[in-house]
This record gives sequence, structure tokens and C-alpha cells, in this order.
Amino acid sequence: MDALRRFDGSLNDLSPVRTERLERVVVAGGGPSGLVAALALAREGVPVTVLEKGAELAVESRASTLHPPTLEILASLGVIEPILARGLKAPRTQFRDRRHGPVATFDLSHLDDETSFPFRIQLEQNKVAAIIADHIRDGHQRGDWDCEIRMDHRVHGVRTLGDTAATVVVGTAEGIVDIDCPWLIAADGAHSAVRRTAGVPLHEDVYPEKFLVVSIADDLAAIFPDIENVNYVADPEQWLVLLRTPDHWRILFPLAADHPHPEGEASDELVAECMRGITGDDRSWTILATSVYTVKRAVVDAMRRGRLLIIGDAAHQNSPLGGMGMNSGVQDALSAGRRLAEVWRGGSETVLDEFDRLRREVAVQYVQADSHANWLVLREPDPVKRAAMHADLAAAAADPDRHRERVRRTAMLDAVRSHL
Ligand SMILES: Cc1cc2nc3c(=O)[nH]c(=O)nc-3n(C[C@H](O)[C@H](O)[C@H](O)COP(=O)(O)OP(=O)(O)OC[C@H]3O[C@@H](n4cnc5c(N)ncnc54)[C@H](O)[C@@H]3O)c2cc1C
Repeated sequence: MDALRRFDGSLNDLSPVRTERLERVVVAGGGPSGLVAALALAREGVPVTVLEKGAELAVESRASTLHPPTLEILASLGVIEPILARGLKAPRTQFRDRRHGPVATFDLSHLDDETSFPFRIQLEQNKVAAIIADHIRDGHQRGDWDCEIRMDHRVHGVRTLGDTAATVVVGTAEGIVDIDCPWLIAADGAHSAVRRTAGVPLHEDVYPEKFLVVSIADDLAAIFPDIENVNYVADPEQWLVLLRTPDHWRILFPLAADHPHPEGEASDELVAECMRGITGDDRSWTILATSVYTVKRAVVDAMRRGRLLIIGDAAHQNSPLGGMGMNSGVQDALSAGRRLAEVWRGGSETVLDEFDRLRREVAVQYVQADSHANWLVLREPDPVKRAAMHADLAAAAADPDRHRERVRRTAMLDAVRSHL
């Protein structure tokens, strides 16, 4: 093999019990990005193997929003019906001031002449991934395509990477297996072992706040009848996001960066303190899940290196304000899958360099820029600037052209129409 180099020293201790040669595209990671890439390739007749470290697909709910162009992609892959059936339609997004109430409401139905899906679908990412995985397995079993999903296969990294093949080091029940493959897609999430061992630099900034997400069984719309299913609530001290999913409400709170609470499940005291701020009283809530986590803006130097493509959180991360993480991962996945299928059939590899350029532009100029702008508006401390920002939002909502322009951008239509 024309190895560019031998990679990360940490792999030297992992001696293989055997080597396997797969004449298939290997996808590391069975999250939404990896599964969509696999399905896109499989539908184009390319044989695919997904390697997922878990015994089951990940169960955390995390992302919960699918924007219109992502729904278009899922429709083009034949998997939209169960998603529409199980998800909650949310055409409107409300922007509120925590002290003064509604500021502006933006409505995706302004785009009903541009997309068949002029709404968000609220459905947690674990359910989306499970639907796509079932669809892949059903099609594989029927013989419609050749796409296997191997669970309990942890990718430790890339041993070699060249212009014609890659070798991945995989932990399996029988021990370490080196898998040689002609193409590798890294979709193994924010801590990507593939990205790290391939030596692809990730440039990252950490936000000065940790985020706390709390899922509750109580109906927030019964307490605040004027809210929508998606609400961004500005406040200089404690901004909020209130999001409805089919089964519960989720509330996102900021925590000071030096807050001593560690990442992971939140303490009862922290949840009680934050939830008290919602209604100002000590009512009891039915808490379903909590999570404290650090938020970053990050992007890789390259989303293609030789026979490796990097997609989703493995390639870029952003604040969840705007709900663009899972969506941009799915959009990367379609772009990578469609282009790699063209190369598999003998087409020029320049389409993969174009994938790298376009998708990194989206990560920085759309996803990071917009999610960061959302964070700045929500927390603006200066009352004069805050009033001006809110007046501008209200004016945009009232003007049909500006309304349309804003919802096109926040729905990621602009980015997808020009950068897939
Ligand atoms: C609390 C929270 C809330 C969020 N809210 C939103 C939101 O509202 N909207 C939105 O769009 N985005 C949101 N995001 C971001 C979103 O969750 C991610 O952008 C999305 O999960 C990216 O999907 P992915 O498939 O690229 O990565 P992941 O979902 O992380 O999937 C990676 C997969 O790879 C597997 N894996 C990892 N390492 C290995 C390995 N070494 N070998 C094999 N398999 C491996 C994992 O088990 C997993 O199945 C949120 C994130 C968090 C943390």
C-alpha cells in the first residue's frame, strides 16, 4: 500500500489477530451522519460496511430538529415516511424576551413554494438514527442493496492511509482486526479516533458557558399558552431555549464556565435551581433526563485526505443554538455519499475536493456563523443594543421579503441549495 505515513503511536500496541480486506466503503460510526452516508452509497449500488462501537445504536436524544432541506434529503433516500409519522411538525419559531414576552415569530410556511417540507420536524436523533438503520437493514435483507452494519466494532484509528487504500484498526469480539478498504468515511463523532489518528488538525474554540439540557414530561404550553413548539428566549442573565419533541419538552440553560458542576448528568439541586427560574416558583417537575456539556466551535483543516472523507461532528462542531449540528452532518453525508458513488463508478476524484471545500465553507460561514450569532442575540447584556436587536427581529418578521430571507437562511436552504 502507498501509505502516506504510519499514524498515531497509540496504535502500535494494537497488534491484529488477522487482517481483512473489504472491497467496500467502510464507514466508522453509526450515528445520523454515518448511516445517511451509508444509505446514500448503498442506494447508488456501492457496497458499504458501517462499523459502530456500541452493542446498540446510541440512545441519548441530543439533537431533535430536522430542517426542511434535511427532510428533502431523507425523502430522496426513501426514508421520510416514518420520520414524518413519528415526528412533530413545527412550522413556527418564536423569539421571546424573558422579561417582556414575545418579540417575533418566524414561519416556515413562507417557503411553501420552495420546498415540499415548509416546517421543522422535531424528532430526537436516536429515533432518527434507528429509523434509518432499520431501513438500511430491511433493504439489505430484501437484496435491494449491499450495506451491512456491524455493531460492537470499535474503530481505534487509521493505521495507514494512502492514495489507493486505508487500513483501519478495529476492536472486535475476537480481538484487534486490521481492515483494509479502498475508501473510509469517518463519522465517529466529536472525539473521532479516525480524525485524531489520521493526524487531521481540528481548530476549536470553547464557549465560555457550559450548557444544561433538561427534558421534562410536563407540558410547558399549558403553563405558557402563547409559546410555539420552538422558542428562543433572550435574557442577559439566563437565556433559554424551549423545544418540544413528540413526547416531551426540552429546556436548554447556560451555566457560567466556572460553574463547578461537572459534565454529564446534572444534580437535583442544579436542575431545581434552573427550573425555578422558569416559573419563579417551587412547583415539582417530572424530569426525564438531564445533561451538562461543554460547547465548542470547531472545524478540521480538511474533510478529505487521500482515501479518507470526514463528515458530521467528526469534521465540525458548533453551538446547538439553531439546531444545525445533526442537519449539517446529514447534509455532509449526502454530499460525500453521492460524490463517492460517482468516483466508485470511475468518475474524477475532483468531486471529492469540491466536497471538502464546499462543506467546510458551510461549517464555518453558515453553521458556526449563525449559531454564534444566535448566542450573541440571546445573551446581549447592553439594554440599548438588546432593544435594537429585538426591534430589528420584529421588523424582519413583519416584512414579507425579510421574513422569507431569514427563514431561508435559518432553515439552511441557502447553504444546501448552493453547497451540496
Ligand atoms: C446536548 C446536545 C444537543 C444537541 N442539539 C442539537 C439540535 O437541536 N440540533 C442539531 O442539529 N444538533 C444538535 N446537537 C448536535 C448533534 O447531536 C450532533 O451534531 C450530531 O450528533 C452529529 O451526528 P454524527 O452522526 O456526526 O455524530 P454522533 O451522533 O456523535 O454519532 C457518532 C457515532 O459514532 C459512534 N462512534 C464513536 N466513536 C466510535 C469509534 N471509535 N468506533 C466506532 N463507532 C464510533 C458513536 O457510538 C455514534 O453512534 C446537539 C448535541 C448535543 C450534545
